[in-house]
Parts: sequence; structure tokens; C-alpha cells
Amino acid sequence: MNTPRIVVLGAGYAGMMTTKRLTQQFAPGEVEITLVNKHNYHYQTTWLHEVAAGTIDVNRSRIMIEDVIDTKRVHFVQDTVVKINKDEKKVQLENGELDYDFLVIGLGFEKATFGIPGMQENAFSIQSVDTSRMIRDHIEYQFARYKYEEDASDDLLTIIVGGAGFTGIEFVGELAERVPVLCKKYDIPRHKVKIINVEAMDTVLPGFDEELVDYAKRSLTARGVQFKLGTMIKEVKEDAVILGDEKEEIKAATIVWTGGVQANSIVGESGFELTKGKVNVEPTLKAPGHDDVFILGDCAWVMNKETGRPYPPTAQIAMQEADTCAHNIRTMMYGGTLEEFQFDDKGTVASLGGKEAMGKIFDGYKLYGVQAKAMKNVIDDRYLFLLGGPKLVLKKGKFRPF
Ligand code: FAD
Ligand code: NAD
Repeated sequence: MNTPRIVVLGAGYAGMMTTKRLTQQFAPGEVEITLVNKHNYHYQTTWLHEVAAGTIDVNRSRIMIEDVIDTKRVHFVQDTVVKINKDEKKVQLENGELDYDFLVIGLGFEKATFGIPGMQENAFSIQSVDTSRMIRDHIEYQFARYKYEEDASDDLLTIIVGGAGFTGIEFVGELAERVPVLCKKYDIPRHKVKIINVEAMDTVLPGFDEELVDYAKRSLTARGVQFKLGTMIKEVKEDAVILGDEKEEIKAATIVWTGGVQANSIVGESGFELTKGKVNVEPTLKAPGHDDVFILGDCAWVMNKETGRPYPPTAQIAMQEADTCAHNIRTMMYGGTLEEFQFDDKGTVASLGGKEAMGKIFDGYKLYGVQAKAMKNVIDDRYLFLLGGPKLVLKKGKFRPF
């Protein structure tokens, strides 16, 4: 029998952890494991709002893949996936093609624009290291222009963030810390700069705990973030957003969309059926109708049997899915009962910039301020530990004072 070939697409939380678990599930030579990723680095998607605001250095969020995966056990291919041909069991790459016996799709998310005119072309999104670095540089450039250009408009200093879900809230929190630093650097009065967070619902973080939501809003407002709630973004122009049925226009040189995410478009283009932008996977994490394909992380919806609704896609869930996926691939090879994914919810903590954060852990224990921020750092460091052991925590961990 030929050695079974397992191909993992995407080196995000789902792909990295699945690769790691596969090397633990199988002995050397038992299977051929290939990991494909666009870049030679893995990035901490959960830190991208900090990269985008410029509160951490880009390199802090990047981890070289070959530093954390065992390249004697895993064949790493740096290339871009173009299409999956599931009937022929092939993956088409920009520079080649791969055959598989088992496929794991962990290609992450793209911004969902819901057909809002101008959103795709005119708004930035916090999606990858490259898009986040663009936002950081763009904002700073507007400050430089404001200082340099004669009769510069104050609109250069207006930043609109569309959507007050967790990404939007974490990002405006970082901006609240970054803006005073930029004001000092460019000698611009703080009151000239506007950070406006626009949200369609009547509250920020819709559906989250009310006390924590209030805390987040108060903390952000006190640091100069303005909210426009119950207000839909209807259109995005090059230099403005159009809001609500009244079509109010707000001019802004920087517009960042954090209004929603969907699966990487390669998944739909490869013929997997999408529901609200993602694949409804089976409880075993297999793609419906495709026995040899697993879909994880932000490409998938996994149903919560208790609520009848899918779990919100997070890094936490993507990492846990890796365990089920690796176990089930082994079971499919050697026989036995496939495992159904069980989510172990360890809670949600959101950073609000600087020493501020809030969230709930375990069975609803609430944390605020510095305590919550410390917990957020512990969560981030735990992931680094799972991925690369103490060495990686020492190199990239959030406890570092520099
Ligand atoms: P990703 O982590 O996005 O990884 C996808 C990988 O696929 C990337 O390495 C990418 O380069 C690669 N890729 C994409 N296209 C191709 C291609 N065509 N060819 C080859 N490779 C490709 N969740 C939490 O649990 N806690 C948090 O605190 C948290 N904070 C967040 C903060 C921000 C700013 C954002 C945006 C999200 C946050 N999330 C958080 C959500 C979390 O980041 C995602 O749910 C998680 O990243 C999903 O993991 P993934 O492996 O599916 O995809
Ligand atoms: P989201 O879908 O959770 O939030 C998008 C927000 O944009 C919603 O509040 C929605 O009402 C709003 N919106 C949509 N259309 C709009 C419009 N036209 N005008 C104004 N507002 C509009 O997206 P997200 O915040 O990017 O989060 C994606 C996933 O990542 C979620 O599962 C989230 O839990 C997870 N995440 C978690 C953390 C954390 O745990 N700390 C941080 C970031 C993201």
C-alpha cells in the first residue's frame, strides 16, 4: 500500500495545530504530511488589530513556519492555493499541483462586504499581515500629509471603523492608544483626530454580556472613541462613508471595515456548498458528501447542538477542531468510530488597548481592566506554548516588557 498523503491547506490556527497533531498521531513514515501556505510565516491573526493600529511591530505577529514545525516530518510548500479539484483529489497551486488522500482546508477568512457599494474598493480590512500593515502606514501617512499640505483638511485625521463586533472594538481600542503617540510625533492637537466606530445594531458587541459591553464602551469613550450605533453603512466612497436611510455623509481619509467575515473564496469556487459564506460541516468536521475532506476554522460553521446555531468562528475553536480532525484521519485509516467535535468554551476576553480589556472566562467569571488584560496575555501565551513550547513563548510571548 502507498503511504497515505495528507495535505493541509493554510498555516493559520487550524492548519498549524492540525499539522502538529498529525505529527503526534502518526509515527515517522506512517503518512506523508504536506502543509501549504502562501507565506513562509504563520501569523497571529488575533494580534492583527495591533499591527493595523501600529501598537506592535509587524514581526512580533509573525512566526517562521520552519521554526515551529518539524520539517523532517512535514513537507512545507510555500505556494498559493488556486483551486481544489475534489473529484480528482488534487490541489492546484500557483506553481504546481498536489495529490491527496486526505485534505484539510484551513484557508481562513475574507472580508464579507454584503454587496455594500464601494466597500471592496474603498475600505481597508484587517485580514492579513499585509493588509494590516497597509492600514498602519496609511494612517501615519495621513498625519504626515496633514502636517505638510497647506490648508490640509481635518478629514485627513478622521478614521471610520465600520462594525463594532470584537474586531472593530479591539481595533478602536488600539487606535485610542496609538493616536496620542502620532499626535505627539506630528505635533497635532489630539482633538483634531476623530475615531468613529459605526455599528448597525443599537449596541456594540451585539449579543455579548451587557455589563462587559458597558465597561468597554465607557473605557473607549473616555479615551476619545466616538460611537454611531443603530447606523448602517450603506455605501463607501474613496473619501467618505454614507450612513443610514438619511444618507448622512462623513468624510474620512481612513475607512476600515470590520463588519463581518466569510470563508476564503477558494472554498466556494471549488464547489463546496456555502451557507452564509461558510461550509456547514458535519459534526466530525468532514465536508458534507466528501469523505476525505475536512474543513476547519473560519471556512466552516460547526453547529452547537444545544442552541441549534453555529459557534462563532474563533482561533480558540479552530485550534480545538485540529484535535478532532487529526484523530478522525487516523480513525479513517485504521477503523473505529469517528469523533464528533465538542467545543470546550474557555471564555472570551477582548483587549481594549493599552492596559484595558474585559471578558469572561470559565463559567462566566467576569474580568475587567488590568486583570482582564493579564488574562488576555495568558491566553495568547498559551497558544504560543501549544505551538512552539517555552522557546516560542520566550521569543514572542506577551509577558515580554519589550
Ligand atoms: P487564519 O488564522 O486566518 O489562517 C489562514 C491561513 O491561510 C493564513 O496563514 C493565510 O496566509 C493562509 N492562506 C489564505 N489563503 C491562502 C491561499 N490561497 N493559499 C495558501 N495559503 C493561504 N479569535 C479568538 O479566539 N480570540 C481572539 O482574541 C481573536 N482576536 C481576533 C482579532 C482580530 C483582529 C481578528 C481579525 C480575528 C480575531 N479572532 C480571535 C478570530 C480568529 O483570528 C480567527 O477565527 C482565526 O484566525 C481562524 O483561524 P483559521 O486557521 O481558520 O484562519
Ligand atoms: P462580527 O460579524 O462578529 O461583527 C461585525 C459587526 O459589524 C456586527 O456587530 C454587525 O452588526 C456590524 N455590521 C454589519 N454590517 C454593518 C453595516 N452595514 N454597518 C454597520 N455595522 C455593520 O465580525 P468580527 O468582529 O470581525 O468577528 C469575527 C469573528 O472573530 C467572530 O466570531 C468574533 O467572535 C471573532 N473575534 C474574537 C475576538 C476575541 O475573542 N477577542 C476578537 C476579534 C474577533
